[in-house]
Amino acid sequence: MDRTYLIKPVIDAEYPMIDYGKGVYLYDSEGKEYLDASSGAITANIGHGVQEIIDAMTEQAKRVSFVYRSQFTSEPAEKLAKKIASLSFPELNWCFFVNSGSEATETAMKISIQYWQEKGVMTKTKVLSRWMSYHGITLGALSMSGHTGRRARFIPLLEDFPVIQPPYCYRCPYNKEAPECGYLCANELDNMIRRIGSEHIAAFIAEPIIGASGAAITPPQDYYKVIKEICERHQILFIADEVMTGFGRTGTMLACEQWGVEPDIVTLGKGMGAGYTPIAATLVGDHVMEPIVSGSKTIMGGHTLSANPQACAVSLAVIEYLEKNKIIPEVKKKGEYLKAKLLQLQKSFSFIGDIRGRGLMLGIEFVQNFVEKKPFPRAMKVTESMISIAQHHGLLVYPAGAGSDGVNGDAVMIAPPLNITFKEMDDLIQRLQETLQQFTNFYLKEVEL
Ligand code: PMP
Repeated sequence: MDRTYLIKPVIDAEYPMIDYGKGVYLYDSEGKEYLDASSGAITANIGHGVQEIIDAMTEQAKRVSFVYRSQFTSEPAEKLAKKIASLSFPELNWCFFVNSGSEATETAMKISIQYWQEKGVMTKTKVLSRWMSYHGITLGALSMSGHTGRRARFIPLLEDFPVIQPPYCYRCPYNKEAPECGYLCANELDNMIRRIGSEHIAAFIAEPIIGASGAAITPPQDYYKVIKEICERHQILFIADEVMTGFGRTGTMLACEQWGVEPDIVTLGKGMGAGYTPIAATLVGDHVMEPIVSGSKTIMGGHTLSANPQACAVSLAVIEYLEKNKIIPEVKKKGEYLKAKLLQLQKSFSFIGDIRGRGLMLGIEFVQNFVEKKPFPRAMKVTESMISIAQHHGLLVYPAGAGSDGVNGDAVMIAPPLNITFKEMDDLIQRLQETLQQFTNFYLKEVEL
């Protein structure tokens, strides 16, 4: 090809041309094999080329792929909503389908504002969030995201939604340790609400485990209990953005289950279609829908392709596959195995500062100095180098470090398809070890620290 007509993430960069995928492996047009240790962007949760999904796709396409949600409902959409309601918390019984995680969080934001309007409160329009967070690329979702790099160009267009510190225990902003810290970072929400006035705040949104902006930053055990209590006390809805953590990624259908906290609204995406189709959802609690159902009876949102039967049938097949093969109950054990292997690697590579995460959503943070946790200078582009060395060794990992925040450490995420086998995890570790060794041999030697 002499030129490209496709706008890729970096326009003049060379990307391998992918040919096909099978299970946890991808193959490019030159026959090179990649172990997909990031499930793309934590999306291909059941791996590539699963026949059952292809069959479900074909069957639905033979019947009907698209109907417009303002004219029709469809069996796959009805079934999927019912199924998802049965899989999560007892109150989360309403499902609004969209096509991407950004649309799901944007919809959650709008529903939370509408909820208060239906109750006659017109001033509650802000959504609070956290620094080092990512909720999507559309302007509303970006307004709620604490992601320096992705916000920078659009700052003048974004809503001024205040943010609190993230529960980043490895670099605690208060230099304390949980639980003795008294969850100062969670209590910051209380202060923030008092400062702004709860009459202006519709909701607080958080990723149960921070992904794209922090590489699997996992809060201590009582963190969300404190958050939920503060939200309830000030009459603010709690939105859990489970676009990345949902659908079994951390070992339970929703990650929030592990903190015993029931959100008012939940967003899902990525693993919902597992990469086989664009589909995402906003799940809404009965009590949030109640004033809408008895009020205007409509949610001002939705996209042309929302709830299309093709995507819904694929997502149903993904759930069926997860259930039939008992994949989610195995995630915790697999995650512990992989984490133990990563901790072993940490002993040989002193630039591995932190290993964190739950289930098969693990993060590795790199540091220049292990004891002081000193980050590498940003100019060294450690995250970017790690990604490209890994790719050279046939390993795909996800960048989620300094590039996103501009302040904190370099980091990558390891989040393979949930049905990865133990043997494949050993292959993953082998490729990662080679990557880290090459980083030591060539990269660290070449730069002056
Ligand atoms: N929320 C979270 C937690 C995410 O990780 C992402 C994607 N990284 C999004 C929202 C946005 O999803 P999408 O890219 O599908 O719009």
